Amino acid sequence: MNKKILIVEDENSIRGFLKINFQRNDFKVIEAETGEEGIRKAMLEKPDVAILDVMLPGIDGFQVCEALRKKYTNIGIIMLTARGQDMDKIMGLEYGADDYVVKPFNPVELILRVKAILRRIDLKVESENGDIVESAPFRLDLYSQRVYKDDSEIDVTPKEYLLFKLFIENPGKAFGRDELLNIVWGYDFVGDPKIVDVNIRRLRAKIEDDSSKPQYIETVWGTGYRWSHGNK
Ligand code: CA
Repeated sequence: MNKKILIVEDENSIRGFLKINFQRNDFKVIEAETGEEGIRKAMLEKPDVAILDVMLPGIDGFQVCEALRKKYTNIGIIMLTARGQDMDKIMGLEYGADDYVVKPFNPVELILRVKAILRRIDLKVESENGDIVESAPFRLDLYSQRVYKDDSEIDVTPKEYLLFKLFIENPGKAFGRDELLNIVWGYDFVGDPKIVDVNIRRLRAKIEDDSSKPQYIETVWGTGYRWSHGNK
């Protein structure tokens, strides 16, 4: 999917120049002439990156930057500035900008910087989402080991958690009772293998809409169980 870039610049010639260059590089360009317009369009279009001129009529680029950063943690922001202009503010990037470019700028360099920021954001989003497994209506937080259904937490025991994790990460796969016993309880488990069924029954009571007619954890007759959700 094409990345969206918001360009907030009051000078038509510079805005047009930026627009052409980013369009050539397959960006979807959203333009704004004032900071207020930029913030409004950001809400509607949810751009991946914003290029903000510092000197704007009305609120300045720093205020736009601050407003966007507060609302969208993962937007990339590059400030566009004239030489010597507010360099202290810009160098500190205290308003939450990721980078800045001094006019007159080389468009190739600006595009490279935008791409570098996008790569950083993608990595960040990936690692933020890396600990979550989702299969609607369920969500599994691997980091805190919590299970949610429709955003409310389900209280599970450590074994129920492991079972649930195994199922949700392997939709459609049939697990034998011995297999579940080995994976969840360990190879050295000594005891009644019926413990698998007992735990499945408890887990069903917690996650199924109607545990007498389970729709998520299916029974595989003669074998064991499988996570059926997502295959219907
Ligand atoms: Ca300007």
